[in-house]
Amino acid sequence: MKKVAVIGAGTMGNGIAHVFAQSGHQVNLLDISEEALAKGIQTITKNLDRMIAKERITEEDKSNTLGRIHSYTNLPDGVSDVGLVVEAATERLDLKLKIFEQIDEHAPEDCILASNTSSISITKIASATKRPSKVIGMHFMNPVPIMKLVEIIRGYSTSDEVCQEIMELSISLGKSPVEVNDFPGFIANRILIPMINEAIYSLHEGVAGVEEIDTVMKLGMAHPMGPLQLADFIGLDVVLAIANVLYEGFGNPKYAPCPLLVNMVTAGKLGRKSKEGFYNYSAGGKELIVSQSFN
Ligand code: NAD
Repeated sequence: MKKVAVIGAGTMGNGIAHVFAQSGHQVNLLDISEEALAKGIQTITKNLDRMIAKERITEEDKSNTLGRIHSYTNLPDGVSDVGLVVEAATERLDLKLKIFEQIDEHAPEDCILASNTSSISITKIASATKRPSKVIGMHFMNPVPIMKLVEIIRGYSTSDEVCQEIMELSISLGKSPVEVNDFPGFIANRILIPMINEAIYSLHEGVAGVEEIDTVMKLGMAHPMGPLQLADFIGLDVVLAIANVLYEGFGNPKYAPCPLLVNMVTAGKLGRKSKEGFYNYSAGGKELIVSQSFN
């Protein structure tokens, strides 16, 4: 499987394209937005420069990697001759269903279709195609070039062969794949999101402040980042969307998103990307400043 298409050049898509290209795959990178594509390539370039500075790769590796990435802005383009499509577009069910219907129509018959979705059912995504046995979840972690884990999600109809092939491919990318079944939140977010939600509830109920909650989890549990800082990093809108998938998927009130999280998202406080969440990032975010709303 030498040629791969990656759909979406945002936070995850550019990282996925980077990792495949650096491992020698030709990559067709697609996005509906020219701007997102340009920004994606810029991010890959910056990340490769950082690797050169750390003497992990050479200038030649960088130019070879960039040379393997080709950009496209219209969907059927770039999928007709690939062995794998990895979809990393915006986390919206309607959008993913439409994309999978389209790629199913234009990608070669034996092409595997993977989604990087954080929480949407792979079985549901596969239902938009005529090849559900070749549809699988490939859930990379952010930042993709650094994080080792890939959660490999088997949809209801995913075949053993496809699962095996994707596990082996992930290892060849230098990743550590873990196979899981298709249930809301898979494993990573089923455990992570309720923990973050509980941290937000603790703040909401006045048990402790932002820094105190994060300090307990960093120093007490050896987490590299506190749950509230991590929520800001993921994006509070994304955290809320996944919390809702768990809540609706299991029909269990224990997954109900904290009203404070709902309010913050409604108010446009989305974390780092909007410069304010539990912390304030207007000064660049190097030093963590607790957001004024919680002083
Ligand atoms: P993002 O908003 O940074 O990027 C999404 C990109 O998709 C945008 O550039 C957008 O222009 C593009 N897009 C939208 N519709 C498209 C279409 N029809 N065709 C092609 N491109 C289209 O989002 P992201 O954070 O990179 O998330 C992408 C996927 O990865 C989501 O499914 C998300 O749940 C998942 N994910 C995100 C993270 C994370 O930490 N951000 C981690 C793991 C998985």
